[in-house]
This record gives sequence, structure tokens and C-alpha cells, in this order.
Amino acid sequence: MKNLSIRVKITLWFSVVLVAVMAMTFLVALSVSRSVIQKTVRDNLVETVEDNVDEVEYYETMPPEGQWNHADLYVEFRGGVMEIDDDFLDRVNGIASGLYQEDGTLLYGENPVANHTSDLSFADDTLREITVGKETYYVYDRALPAENLEGLWLRGVVSERQGDTQLSSVARVSLILMPGLVIVAILGGYIIAGRTLRPMKKMAATASQIGQGRDLKKRIVLRPGRDELHALADSFNQMFERLEESFEQEKQFASDVSHELRTPMSVIMAQCEFTMEYAENEEDYREALTVIKRQGDHMTALIEDMLSVTRLERKADSYTMEELNLSELVETVCGELSLLKEKEITLTCVCEPGVTLKGNRELLTRLLRNLIHNAYRYGRENGHIRVELRRDAGRTELSVSDDGIGIAREEQGKIFRRFYQVDTARSSRGTGLGLSMVQEIAWLHGGEVTVESELGVGSTFTVVL
Ligand code: ADP
Repeated sequence: MKNLSIRVKITLWFSVVLVAVMAMTFLVALSVSRSVIQKTVRDNLVETVEDNVDEVEYYETMPPEGQWNHADLYVEFRGGVMEIDDDFLDRVNGIASGLYQEDGTLLYGENPVANHTSDLSFADDTLREITVGKETYYVYDRALPAENLEGLWLRGVVSERQGDTQLSSVARVSLILMPGLVIVAILGGYIIAGRTLRPMKKMAATASQIGQGRDLKKRIVLRPGRDELHALADSFNQMFERLEESFEQEKQFASDVSHELRTPMSVIMAQCEFTMEYAENEEDYREALTVIKRQGDHMTALIEDMLSVTRLERKADSYTMEELNLSELVETVCGELSLLKEKEITLTCVCEPGVTLKGNRELLTRLLRNLIHNAYRYGRENGHIRVELRRDAGRTELSVSDDGIGIAREEQGKIFRRFYQVDTARSSRGTGLGLSMVQEIAWLHGGEVTVESELGVGSTFTVVL
């Protein structure tokens, strides 16, 4: 059973239930129709006998020859004539009717079980059952009410089997039709199950192609529809989309990293070659070593930032989030960084006290540090940095503003990308990874970071948590 396909399993289950339902219906219908048919047989018997009552008449004298009906039977009776109409039904639908004298003598008509009914005294308007061998017969008697016909009886007899013959023909038709219907239903079910499950095959094939690394661009394409399988295919396609995106990002990151490292390395190599060829005195060597150290520092910063970015991504789920006092954290970081005194910039911190938040201390410290470092780096001589923390309608807003060089509007959407630097000459001390880390940390805290900036006026980075 385990190795059977879903299609076969569905069809099997459906067929077994269908056959069981059909068999039950057949048995119930058979027993219901049996009692209905038996009742019909009894009703027919009564009706036939009642009809025959009017077919027997008495005349004082023989009617003139002109009024004779040659198909009728005229019998001399009690000084007159008894007429038995040709409409008298002596055998119809298995019902045998007969005309009897009080003592049980059959005058006219039929009785297939006369031997067994001779002892049965007449009882007007009464239906009785008698058993002959293994067979049951219904017997119905009726006294003739007309004048001069007193003492004459009509008796109708019909076998219970008369109903069974009708029933067996119903059963025979059902037994032929039902298996036919079951086969049509099973075949239809098998075909529909196959059609319904076809998208699954497509999904499995696409997933396995992607799994084997053949083509990440592949998607599941189904005919238009809105059922559960289409919803599943959509979810798969979204997943493939994200897989492809992150795979592309990884590739991009690797190529960016090599590109970023290649620049300082080529500067170092060129400096070494130049110095080895042209350096004449200690001063030249010292100058060369200063250049090499600067590039080395840049590479170290780059590597550290890259490690932080990958760690941030890899450990995204394992950072412990604790209830922390953000006001204290912001004041501590501002206190440390205000000592930098770079470009004679003044750092002010306006912090609403007691702002608490569920977050990671290490990450939020890094976020604020990156923003303040940038404000120093891109700030102007004797400029100002303002760090503000406020709680507004359930939102925590942390902003870092400077009055530095600002960012052109068309660049503002790009600065959060990895390695993106607006002006590499001016940003050469940075790595281009600071803001992408800020964004990642904001996302990890369920927040968002935005920038408002004007070229030559300054920038404000706001983190909403
Ligand atoms: P970097 O290490 O180069 O600073 P970031 O990711 O931190 O990298 O920033 C990306 C770019 O955004 C920077 O190169 C810089 O051009 C611009 N930028 C970031 N912060 C500021 C700011 N406060 N003022 C002006 N430009 C900024």
C-alpha cells in the first residue's frame, strides 16, 4: 500500500467506498421494493375480484336474441338466467378468479390451488394467506350482492411469487446497471485524480531540477486556477524567488569582497615595487610604509566589517533579546564618542529618560556607533551632531543628525546597499558596510531606518523601533 501512488490510493479508497455504498443501497432498495411490490400484488388481487363482481348479472328471463352479446356466457340459474360478462377476468397478472357456490363448487373461472382452498370457508371482503408447499398464496373472497345471486362467491387467488418475478426483473436490471455505473465512476475518478495531481508532478520535477542546481531561474508554471495546489505552487515559486535572490546576493557579496580587497592589495603591491626600485633613503621607505600601513588598516577594517555582516546574518536567529534601558545605552555610547573631538565637532545627546525596549545590547550599540561615526566622518569642521531618543505613540525613535556634507537625493536609496559609497574619494576611510549593518540590525528588531538629507546642509538618520 505504501508504494502505491496517491492517484491509485485515492481511486482505490473511492472505489471501495462506492462499491460498499452501492451494495448497501441495492440491499435496502431490494427490501423496500419487495414490501412495496407485495402490497401491489395484494391490491391488484382485491381490485380484480371487485371488478369481477359487476361482471356477473341475473335476469328473470332470457333476454331477446337481439340483445345477446355472443362473447358473454348465459347459464340457466334459479329459474332465470345468469350472465357472465366476457370482461370477467379469470386470469390476469397471475391472479386467478373464480365463481363459486356456497359449498365450494367452482362454477366458472380458475383456481390453481383449488385442492387447498376447498376447505377454506368463504369470508366476505377478507384477504387471507395460505401456504401450499413452500409457496404462500393470497386469497380474497367477495359475496355476490345482486338479487337471486345470494350464496354465490367470487374468490381470487395469487401467489406471493408473482411479486418476486417482478422484483427479480428489477434486481436483474440493477445488477447489470450498477457494475456499469461503478466502472464508469471509478474510471472517471482515476482520470480526474490524475489530472488533479498533475501539478504535483510538475512541482516535484521543478523542485528536483532546482535541487540538482541546474537552474535557479526555473518556476512552476501551471494552467490558470485557484485551488490548493495552485496556492502551493505560488508558495513554492515565492520560495524559489527568495532562494535565487539570496544565492545571487551571496555571489554578489563574494565578488564585491574580492573587488574591495583587490584595490588596497594593488596599492600595496604597486607601492612595494615602486619603493624597491626607486627608494633612496630612509624617508622614502618610511613614506612607503605609511602608505602600506594605511592600506593594511583599511583591509583590517574591511575584513572586520565583513565578518560582522556575515555573523549578523548567520546568527540572526540566535541573538538574545532582553529588556534593556535604551536611554542609558544611548547616553553611554554618546558619552564615549563625544570624546573623539574629530574636526572639533560637538556631539549633543537629547535623551528621553526611561525608554526601555526588548533588544540586543551589542547590536544596538553597534547601530548607534555606526551612525555617529558616519556623522563624524561626513560632518564639517566645527560642526554639530545631535543624537535624540524619544518615545512617541508607542514608537521608539532614535535619530542622529549632522550638519555635514549631506547626501544627494538620488543617492539616498542606494547608501544602505553593501559596499556602496557615494563618493569613494571622500569615503575612502569607510568600508561601505556601516549602513547595511544598521539596516540589518533595525530589521532584526522589527524596525526600519530612514534618511533625510540635503546636499551641503546635513543628514538625519532615524531608526524607528
Ligand atoms: P562608509 O563606510 O563608506 O561610511 P556606510 O555604509 O556607512 O559606508 O555609508 C555608505 C555611504 O553613505 C557613505 O559612503 C557615504 O557616502 C554616505 N553617508 C553615510 N552617512 C552619511 C552622513 N551622515 N552624511 C553624508 N553621507 C553619508
